[in-house]
Amino acid sequence: RAWLEEQAWEINAMVRDFYHHFLIHRPEAEEARSYLERRGVSRHTREIFQLGYAPPGWDTLLQFLASRNCSLHRAVDLGLLTRGERGKLYDRFRNRLIFPIYNAQGRVVGFGGRVLDDSQPKYLNSPESSIFNKGKLLFGLHLTRAAIREKGYAIIMEGYMDVITAYQHGVRNVVASLGTSLTAEQGHLLSRYTRDVVIAYDADTAGVAASIRGLDLLQQIGFRVRVVTIPEGKDPDEYIRQHGGEKWQQLVETAAPLLDYKLNQAAKNGGSSASLLAQVLPNLAAMPGEAEREEGIRRVAARLSLSWEAVRDALRRFNKNPGR
Ligand code: ATP
Ligand code: MN
Ligand code: MN
Ligand code: MN
Repeated sequence: RAWLEEQAWEINAMVRDFYHHFLIHRPEAEEARSYLERRGVSRHTREIFQLGYAPPGWDTLLQFLASRNCSLHRAVDLGLLTRGERGKLYDRFRNRLIFPIYNAQGRVVGFGGRVLDDSQPKYLNSPESSIFNKGKLLFGLHLTRAAIREKGYAIIMEGYMDVITAYQHGVRNVVASLGTSLTAEQGHLLSRYTRDVVIAYDADTAGVAASIRGLDLLQQIGFRVRVVTIPEGKDPDEYIRQHGGEKWQQLVETAAPLLDYKLNQAAKNGGSSASLLAQVLPNLAAMPGEAEREEGIRRVAARLSLSWEAVRDALRRFNKNPGR
């Protein structure tokens, strides 16, 4: 098993180099290079993230792997090649920008591929396998874990481009959850580096819904959680490219503690103070320290125009019977 893992990392590293070399040097990758140019991804950043390009042909990678005597069977397992109906092999990633995905130890465990236009699916990832489990990975962590420790907190974003643009603009304590639903495993992975997170998901409905789910989950694990609301319906990539890293830093400093964020969201959706209270009781209950909880109770009481005692009593009842 350990040996198989190493073989997989080795194949993936070879494929990363192949796609990267293609992006940097080949004339056929001109469109991909100008795409990155348009999105403001510098040459240096392309190197740091080892971005690549998979050409449009059906067997470019296949021929390369065969020439290197690579096990094609393993390449199919890793989702680099696909087996067609009559058993014919072809390249999985075609005419896509390639984002290598690393584990925290810096091994290439999979790839994401983005189209260069508006076609669908926009992103294609390596399929789940013994070494690629999207729900257990955080994109960028191998590059950003030192900055996360140093800064004392991590900013969790949704996508590849969010992390890449943030990093290029000097915001280095970032990771992406690769889609909208954050898992407990991703939380545990991050908890090795910090216990303090800022969630910076896209300002669309999917992003907001995911923020609320992720927030509860991270708090249960023991994180202090805050949430950034990005103005103008943007995602971090768009915001940072337009306003720069310093403005982003200022925005992060306005991140709302989870209680306030949840109360705001709940209030937007309407409802009685009793139902709003019910929505934040689990968050009050999960607060780590007594002092923090007291402060939370005061904030909730003030926001919902309830007495401090009413909130405290509701919390006591909740703690006796949390499943309700
Ligand atoms: P871009 O800026 O290149 O359009 P994005 O990151 O803003 O990309 P979103 O639609 O906001 O794209 O999606 C966020 C993240 O979710 C992506 O970076 C990707 O990791 C993941 N994702 C999006 N669409 C898909 C898909 N069709 N299949 C798998 N993962 C996807
Ligand atoms: Mn989105
Ligand atoms: Mn985007
Ligand atoms: Mn986005």
